[in-house]
Amino acid sequence: MERTISTRIKDMTPSATVELKGKIEALKQKGIKIIPFTLGEPDFNTPANIIEAAKKAMDDGFTRYTAAAGFIDLREAICKKLLTDNNLSFQTDQIIVTTGGKQALYNTLMTICNPGDEVILPTPCWVSYTEMIKLAGGIPVLIKTTEESGFSLDPKEIEKAITPKTTAILINSPNNPTGAVYSKNNLEQLGKIAAERGIYIISDEIYEKLVYDGETHYSIASLCPEIKDLCIVINGFAKSYAMTGWRIGYAAGPSKIIKGMCDLQGHTTSNTNSIAQKAAVQALLGPQDSVVNMHDEFARRRTYIIDRLNNMQGVTCANVKGAFYVLPNVSALFGKSTGSKTIQSSLDVATYLLEEAHVGVVTGDAFYSPNNIRLTYATSMEYIKLGMDKMQACIDKLFK
Ligand code: GLU
Repeated sequence: MERTISTRIKDMTPSATVELKGKIEALKQKGIKIIPFTLGEPDFNTPANIIEAAKKAMDDGFTRYTAAAGFIDLREAICKKLLTDNNLSFQTDQIIVTTGGKQALYNTLMTICNPGDEVILPTPCWVSYTEMIKLAGGIPVLIKTTEESGFSLDPKEIEKAITPKTTAILINSPNNPTGAVYSKNNLEQLGKIAAERGIYIISDEIYEKLVYDGETHYSIASLCPEIKDLCIVINGFAKSYAMTGWRIGYAAGPSKIIKGMCDLQGHTTSNTNSIAQKAAVQALLGPQDSVVNMHDEFARRRTYIIDRLNNMQGVTCANVKGAFYVLPNVSALFGKSTGSKTIQSSLDVATYLLEEAHVGVVTGDAFYSPNNIRLTYATSMEYIKLGMDKMQACIDKLFK
């Protein structure tokens, strides 16, 4: 018998966002410069005070294993942050520090799912949720949010999808890829629905600092007391503090779940990087002006990119209020000829833009959104302007 890889991995769809980064790097090596609107990663450097804290951590000898849950001073800083920013009271034994928000999510799903358990997931959704649910033995139950509603959460639709097998509802607000920010009212309703049935809510709040036009981010765990004991809040440092490469995130939740996650982590990564942990303490306790500056720059880019996209023939873009993504609808381009082929899908649009304009976007199919493409504006204004000009010219050609 030929040995092969596990069905678990064979059946998994690779991360479209991470894969694209590799492809664009490979094209760069060949001298082809792509304007990337692909990977959601701030183009700013990590703030200097955070980098200094990491250097100091190394000099001070924080270079060894830590507790699986993370350094106590970091967990205390996270508790303080959750109280101040989100009105959530957690103790240090209810916090785990992880290798990015991704590991916090994966550990959560591994800890709460039994084989065949259902996890309800509003779509369009980020590429890794479904795969993580499946890796944990769960079944993703996808519930569509619509462009017409600004991709807002509909608690009634979620309620209809609940079955005796539903273990959790996974939400992400501000949302990747739609940019939607869920309203207080909808979150309150969803919290009540889940609490009545004893269903967990996993709330990925990694984009919480990135809300625009006076919009407010609410953590669902803070809105109804009944749901707090069933909530696992996921967050991290990558997006707010431009720390994507540091791989540091965390989860806050009921101590029995956090304990399970620590036990799992003890066997997989032991703990997350000790130096990054010390840097994260500085991120939370140090000055926050860089967070505000980055936010304001994202806000400026967001207005610009939405306006440019809506001015392209055959493209419509919802005026969403959060994260750093837009998800324009490009279905009016389906059926158009590029000269060598007829565009039939979101992937065809993305391929056409990459080949013709050297503009990198992610196909909406990767997010269960077949009529759309995703662009991030976490790239410089100079690139955004150039990329929009190239995209415009390329799309104009389809209408000639
Ligand atoms: N979360 C970002 C994105 O969606 C980074 C890549 C990834 O983790 O998928 O682009």
